[in-house]
Amino acid sequence: MSQINTINSAEILCVGTELLLGDIVNTNAAFLSSRLADLGINVYRHTAVGDNPERLKRALLSALEESDLVITSGGLGPTYDDLTKETVASVLGRNLYLHEESLCRIENYFAATGRVMTENNRKQAMMPEGAIVFDNDYGTAPSLAIFDEERNKTVVMLPGPPNELIPIFNEKVAPYLSTRRASVLVSKNVNIFGMGESAVETALGELMQKATNPTVAPYCKEGEVRLRVTASANDVSSAEKMCDKIIEKICKTEVGGYVYGVDAETLERAVVKALGAKEITLAAAESLTGGLIAKRITDVSGASEVFLGGCVTYTNGAKMKLVGVSKKTLDEFDAVSAETAAEMARGARLTLGADIGVSTTGLAGPGGGTEGTPVGTVFVGISTKDGESVKKLSLSSKKSRSYIRNVSANHAFSLILSYANSKK
Ligand code: ATP
Ligand code: MG
Repeated sequence: MSQINTINSAEILCVGTELLLGDIVNTNAAFLSSRLADLGINVYRHTAVGDNPERLKRALLSALEESDLVITSGGLGPTYDDLTKETVASVLGRNLYLHEESLCRIENYFAATGRVMTENNRKQAMMPEGAIVFDNDYGTAPSLAIFDEERNKTVVMLPGPPNELIPIFNEKVAPYLSTRRASVLVSKNVNIFGMGESAVETALGELMQKATNPTVAPYCKEGEVRLRVTASANDVSSAEKMCDKIIEKICKTEVGGYVYGVDAETLERAVVKALGAKEITLAAAESLTGGLIAKRITDVSGASEVFLGGCVTYTNGAKMKLVGVSKKTLDEFDAVSAETAAEMARGARLTLGADIGVSTTGLAGPGGGTEGTPVGTVFVGISTKDGESVKKLSLSSKKSRSYIRNVSANHAFSLILSYANSKK
């Protein structure tokens, strides 16, 4: 049972006939759900209703039965069909009064944007008694919250346009809701590469499935798996310790060998950090990734400390001229081969005088595959003073060109990381 005044569960109630007609996608519900999850509030249900006060009233009553918090989106505008505030006020038995401060802000907003304020905009300054008003710096409709003490329920009303709803939620509503949580919530992300989601789940078994506090939830994207570990406790430091404890356990399983960081954000960020810490420099020769490795590395600030440069050696001519791949290798083994990848990586390293050379060569498709070398065949090379090694990838030929290129770059980053981590 929830304590008085604290919020554990929520329903998102979106208002707008255009949602039901399929004219707009309900992105507000997705945004609010994700932010409420961050705040540790469980979303029990999404509802969408048209601009119809009777149906809105029924939806609201049902939402109030189910959840501690109802967040509405839309219907706070000045026109006759914008009825959310009026309907909520009537359900909660609150009268509306003219909120002078809001009226003043709306008048100023019109003056500042050089538009004429019409009489119906005054409607937006009418507030239910006892409401907490959140000023809208992005439009005319103020947002508001009402706490109904008798029911122990809270209703927050937000305007429909996402360019108003998102900043108001982040700046005003989220801090308000944080004060209404009984406990604090801390999340940490464990970044994994080289192991699929189901393999991770199998390896972790009960550590993941039975975990309730902290919870462990997987997310996957282009060959990467992210485990989000979330702990709830009385204070931040206790919640952090709980997360760290379970992360330590995860790292002791088979999964540990594939963890490239905690809260590392991206593989390239982890690469820049690891190379920087060990003072290792990198150069690249890229074929199918066409500069993607260089682009992603240089997206990270501080990359200049570790990344000397790279070249896009797309044709055989470029492979020979820029990184010294021999004609014999290209003739004998083809451009898409382990031998070519090794020579490209070595050439990149020697040309730029780097500690590591990395290379990619392969078929990103959709055309160009043969029986022996189907689309998705990729060789990722790495060269160091100890010699060259090459990893062959056989990615699905059904995957898109951009997927194959991105995953190839991910494997290159993963090889670089393994090398950097193996160095003292
Ligand atoms: P306004 O003052 O603009 O009338 P409002 O609070 O009354 O604001 P609505 O009239 O319900 O909001 O919606 C205005 C616009 O906001 C819609 O036309 C649509 O573009 C966008 N919008 C509304 N609801 C959603 C939603 N759930 N997801 C994404 N966009 C939405
Ligand atoms: Mg409207």
